[in-house]
Amino acid sequence: MGHPVRHSRSPKLHGHWLRVLGIAGEYTLADVRPDDVAAFIRALGANGYAGGNVTVPHKVAALGAVDRVEPEAAAIGALNTLWFEDGQLVGGNTDVYGFLASLDQDAPGWDARHGRAVVLGAGGAARAIVYGLLRRGFSVTIVNRTVEKAEALAGYFGRGTMAAGWSALPALLPGCDLLINTTSLGMTGSPPLPIALDGLPRDATVFDAVYVPLETPLLAAARARGNRAVDGLGMLLHQGVPGFERWFGVRPAVTPELRALIEADLIS
Ligand code: NAP
Repeated sequence: MGHPVRHSRSPKLHGHWLRVLGIAGEYTLADVRPDDVAAFIRALGANGYAGGNVTVPHKVAALGAVDRVEPEAAAIGALNTLWFEDGQLVGGNTDVYGFLASLDQDAPGWDARHGRAVVLGAGGAARAIVYGLLRRGFSVTIVNRTVEKAEALAGYFGRGTMAAGWSALPALLPGCDLLINTTSLGMTGSPPLPIALDGLPRDATVFDAVYVPLETPLLAAARARGNRAVDGLGMLLHQGVPGFERWFGVRPAVTPELRALIEADLIS
């Protein structure tokens, strides 16, 4: 459920898993207006749903509509997945899992040492990503156009986080092990990120949460200078795994076949 929601790739993702696992189920989209979201969530079970995903702009409001919020979703302050447990409607956040599983799969060893990360952006995606990085022992500098938002997010997470404006970036890059874009810059229809990678160590990993296009100008620039580069599609695919497992009792796999299917959908 979201508003709007028709751009979502989740029906294709979960539809693929339902098909390959031979499960008679359906994943549908519901465009729910903000005023209606609490009532829609409370009626999920009565309407025959095994659970659901919650996307923009309902991720925060949904916290107040469930019986129980998982500790991770409470810590991030947003949820994206709902399921039933012992008759109770539970809300969790699988974006952290999706982000970490994507790097684990696509950049093995990325967290071998507790390094320093620079996260560009301080919106919804940044919240889950900063939380995941702190959990893996990274210290994180949040760099945002509106520096007050970076400061607010760093204040929210506290220990291990710092905030800065864009002008601080050239000084931050030489000490950076992991550079992450969580802004919408670089996305089709948006301008590219206005940054140069000069000074970023060659062994640093660059991750872009944007997945349309898959190869953003940031990732292309990173690859061209020899940095390991990871696109945002893996995060999108992996975040679906824990929800599907809760709803249908089977843990689905993120395979090259699934990735190719969604990649083709992104291009069309
Ligand atoms: P959001 O909450 O709206 O945050 C947008 C961020 O981008 C803010 O930090 C904003 O800075 C910054 N920004 C926007 N336009 C800018 C500009 N012209 N110059 C500088 N900064 C700018 O969005 P979100 O939900 O975090 O999503 C951000 C991106 O991540 C989107 O492309 C989305 O598709 C992607 N995403 C991917 C996944 C995945 O699974 N791969 C999951 C979630 C999101 P200000 O605070 O200064 O406005």
